[in-house]
Amino acid sequence: MRTYLRIGRLIDGRGGAPIEDAVIRIDGARIGRVGPAAALGEAVDPDAWVDFAAGTALPGLVDAHTHFSLSADGRSYEEMALDPDELMAINGARNALRHLRSGVTTARDNGARNRVVFVLREAIERGYAEGPRLLVSGRPLTCSAGHFHWCNGVADGELEIRRAVRRLVAEGADHIKIMASGGGTVGTDPTRASYTVAELRAAVETAHELGRPTTSHCRALESMRRAMEAGSDCLEHGEFLTPGGEMSFDEETGKRLVDSGIYLSPTLQASGWDTILRLREKRETSGLDATETSALAATERETEERLAQVGRLLQLGMGPRIVAGTDAGCFDFSFGHMDYALDLLAKAGMTPMQAIIAGTSVAAAACGVADEAGILEAGRPADILIVDGDPLTDIAAVGRVTAVYQGGRRVT
Ligand SMILES: [Zn+2]
Repeated sequence: MRTYLRIGRLIDGRGGAPIEDAVIRIDGARIGRVGPAAALGEAVDPDAWVDFAAGTALPGLVDAHTHFSLSADGRSYEEMALDPDELMAINGARNALRHLRSGVTTARDNGARNRVVFVLREAIERGYAEGPRLLVSGRPLTCSAGHFHWCNGVADGELEIRRAVRRLVAEGADHIKIMASGGGTVGTDPTRASYTVAELRAAVETAHELGRPTTSHCRALESMRRAMEAGSDCLEHGEFLTPGGEMSFDEETGKRLVDSGIYLSPTLQASGWDTILRLREKRETSGLDATETSALAATERETEERLAQVGRLLQLGMGPRIVAGTDAGCFDFSFGHMDYALDLLAKAGMTPMQAIIAGTSVAAAACGVADEAGILEAGRPADILIVDGDPLTDIAAVGRVTAVYQGGRRVT
């Protein structure tokens, strides 16, 4: 069964010039061909056409950092952790559907309790739930009482870490998530590293021996240095925090990031973008009280600092390995808004095209699925996002979804 999409403008995800007036032929679950309409040269049954002449087609988006089991309703981790696994799984199905309908056809889950996301991935594969193709870490590795310890992935010392990695892979982990610094979990310190280089290296080596990539949660500058030293494949957040709480961009660490070949997923939405948007809107409609006014100012300041850090990294040449990720699920970081991640990368200094490839082909490469996701070309799964308008002139157009295809099937 063949379907032909007539598209006003097509961005294939590789970063080259868009194709104006394009056609995508979908052969079952895969893309049959991609190219200018004028070069099609096939007789097509008029019923096989679907017209998106006013829209722009992009590869289905790849979100490199999510937590599907978490509810994004503003509660703390400690409150969310009171929910039983069953509720987390059902909530995960809801979040997965929301993310898929916004154009995210592949997503990496970077940490959930027990077996919750293994079950969610299985439910999606069986068709019990609809969602992006999931790549899951399961329980993140963390030190005793460390960030996300309530997921039950605590491992201290090289021996325990190797054992934990082997067990996670046996249970079905697609990658290994390592909490290399503290975070928002009460009792942990995001400004300090939580594992030694030897412990991190034990995790990375064991994962690599089993053919799995690793990604390390690194808010502290010291944790960024250690995770690079240990050979982690990707850093999450990368806030350059120093003991005392300052975000201080470190040029030498920035250069090492560029030279090391590592990916960085700065999760800019996670500095409070949803809070900023909500409070700015409230300011216009009903006004803000003093607490809200200062909360808005503080959150805006933090986001500005993060944007400036990523701006510095772009100047150093990190652009081709900066990955878009939402961190959706934590606190109030909403699902269904990968457009925020791309918009924030553009605010940090990326061109709209750079931001798009950060959320498609670059993210796919960072997640280890470069051959399957992130590019529109013949032979790949027909995962396609069609939006209203031109994201190359207005990146926010990525949020104006007209249609989403996953594996050749229209899901919106
Ligand atoms: Zn996270």
